[in-house]
Amino acid sequence: MTDAPVAPPSSLRLRLDADALAANWRTLDSMSGTATAGAAVKADGYGLGAARVAEVLTKAGCQDFFVAHWSEVADVLRHVPPSRIAVLHGPLNSDEAGFARQTGVRPVLNSLEQVRRWLASGGGPCHLMVDTGMSRLGLAMAELGNPLLAKLDVDICMSHLASADENVNQNGEQLGRFSQVRETMKARRYSLANSAGIALGNAYHADLTRPGLALYGGIARPELAGRIMPVAYPEAAVLQVRTLEPGDKVGYNALFTADRPMRTGILAIGYADGYLRCWSGKGRFAFGGREVPVLGRVSMDLTIVDLTELPECREGDWLSVIYDLPQASATSGLSQYELLTLLGRRFSRQIGI
Ligand SMILES: *Cc1c(COP(=O)(O)O)cnc(C)c1O
Repeated sequence: MTDAPVAPPSSLRLRLDADALAANWRTLDSMSGTATAGAAVKADGYGLGAARVAEVLTKAGCQDFFVAHWSEVADVLRHVPPSRIAVLHGPLNSDEAGFARQTGVRPVLNSLEQVRRWLASGGGPCHLMVDTGMSRLGLAMAELGNPLLAKLDVDICMSHLASADENVNQNGEQLGRFSQVRETMKARRYSLANSAGIALGNAYHADLTRPGLALYGGIARPELAGRIMPVAYPEAAVLQVRTLEPGDKVGYNALFTADRPMRTGILAIGYADGYLRCWSGKGRFAFGGREVPVLGRVSMDLTIVDLTELPECREGDWLSVIYDLPQASATSGLSQYELLTLLGRRFSRQIGI
C-alpha cells in the first residue's frame, strides 16, 4: 500500500509572532504585580492554535493554563503538566470526572452538583469557581457555607469579572464580594482578573491572573495600548488576477461595479474562514507595505480586492489581511474576541514572522 499523498500547503496562513506572544505574557505578568499571570488558552488558544501557544508561553515562564472544554486538554497536555491545566466547564458527568482523575488535569467545580460528582469520583485537587455577580458559572455566594466544600482540596478559588473593560461600579462590587469569598473559602491560591482586570490595578490581582485576549494582541482596556503587541497575522494567496472594463460587475449581488478599467485579485479567503460578510466593501489587505480595498461581497471561499494600484502583485502572491484588532473591531462591529476565535480551520497556523 502506498501512503496517501500529502496535501500541498494551504493558500491561507495565520502567522503567529511567537516573540510578541511571549512578550505580552511577560508584560501581563509584570502588570499583575505580586501575582503571577497564567493563560487562558481555550477555544484553541483564541484561534491561534492551543498547542503552539502553550509551547511558547511555557518557554516564557507561564505555568497555569485554562481551557473551557475537556476536548481542549490534549493539545495543551503536549507542553504542560496535567496539574497545571484547569478545565473551566468542570465535570458535567462521571466520564468527565473520571477523565480528570485519570489524566491529573484539574476541574474547575462550578456548582454543588459538580462538587458532589467530583467527590463521588474520588476527588483530589481541584479548582472552585464562585459567582460574584455575573450570574454565569460558579457557586452562589450563599452556597459557600455548605459543609461539602470542606471536603475539597481547592488549589485555585476563582471568580470572573463581568465588566472589567468598563469603568463601572460592578467591578468594585465584585471585588468586594471576592474578598468575602477569600475569607470564607479555603484555597491555596485565589484568582479574579482576566486581561482587562489586570489593568484595573493591584486590588484585583490576588495570587494568579488569567489573561486571554491581551496575550493574543487584544487591547481589552486603554491602559494596555502601546504595551501589548499584535500576535496574529492572517494572510491569503491571490488565486487569479483579472482585468475589468467599466460596467463590469463584481461578486455576489453585484455590490460593486467598475467605473473605469481596473485590475482585481481573487483571494483564497472567505466567510467560511471567519472573514465574515461584514467585511464586504470595507475590508483591506496589504502587499509590499501598500493597502488595497475589498470590492463587493465576501463569498464563502473567496474575496476580491482592487489591485489596480499594485501592478506588481501577481497570482500566487500573499496579501495580509489588515487585522489590527481594536481598529478591525471598530470597522467590522465584531469584538476583538470574535475576530480571533473566528479564524477557521483552513488557515495553516505557523510560528514565525
Ligand atoms: C476566557 C476567560 C478568561 C480570559 O479572559 P480575557 O478577557 O480573554 O482575558 C479568564 N477567566 C475565565 C473564567 C474565562 O472564561
